[in-house]
Amino acid sequence: MAENKVVIITGASSGIGEATAKLLAKNGAKLVLAARREDRLKALKEEIEQLGGQAVYQVTDVTKTEQLEQLAKLAQETYGSVDVLVNNAGLMPLSQLHKNKQDEWDTMVDVNIKGVLYGIGAVLPYMRKQKSGHIINISSVAGHEVMPSSAVYSGTKFAVRAITEGLRKEESVDNNIRATIISPGAVDTELKDHITDEDIKQGIGNMQAIDADAIARAINYAVSEPDDVSINEILIRPTSQK
Ligand code: NDP
Repeated sequence: MAENKVVIITGASSGIGEATAKLLAKNGAKLVLAARREDRLKALKEEIEQLGGQAVYQVTDVTKTEQLEQLAKLAQETYGSVDVLVNNAGLMPLSQLHKNKQDEWDTMVDVNIKGVLYGIGAVLPYMRKQKSGHIINISSVAGHEVMPSSAVYSGTKFAVRAITEGLRKEESVDNNIRATIISPGAVDTELKDHITDEDIKQGIGNMQAIDADAIARAINYAVSEPDDVSINEILIRPTSQK
């Protein structure tokens, strides 16, 4: 059950992270919320508390490893353990390679891959000591298939799946740490707002997308299974997505 688990969520200021925080808090988890936009985190913490849940937040940039270390410390000092990390923060500025948008490539690698690694690095010392823990990494259907314009984004999401599987193989047997990949298809969030290539943005805008709550429910399922059950991966598409 999610009840009483201490759950860190990166990218909690909107979309999938926010929906997951609300659902897990409703189910009794103790939340540690992280993202860069403080106003959003503060409002979410207040909303959770008004509904009887527990949450703290820390303004966090996942490209800064020391900020993730501080986040894990905040979870430990506030609630006494670090049970679950949801590595959810991510960006998707899609474009074709010939556009040579190197700044966007750098940002995707920094946030989507290195941010996930820094999160893992920050929580593993606590989880290994506890001999229990659960790391949930958000990949994508784009971590299974590549489309024109998704070469770099897909590269980062393929990497997230490889990292999660490596983590599972290294930490499950000896340290009782579970690792889960969540791979959503099109979800209605702010993710597409960062696309600077107008042609691509319009194409994406026409796709039917499901609500972020659908992904939150999948994450809640993985968290809520008994400790001896490791949900390795869940793929979730809108029914209308091929
Ligand atoms: P949103 O844009 O709504 O959320 C992205 C979150 O990431 C925000 O909370 C943002 O917060 C945070 N973030 C971005 N950069 C950083 C950073 N440097 N440090 C800390 N936080 C950061 O999109 P989604 O909810 O859709 O995205 C969540 C995850 O789901 C991503 O990993 C995405 O790739 C994945 N995904 C989404 C799909 C979709 O269709 N929406 C499909 C498949 C996967 P802030 O700006 O406040 O820092």
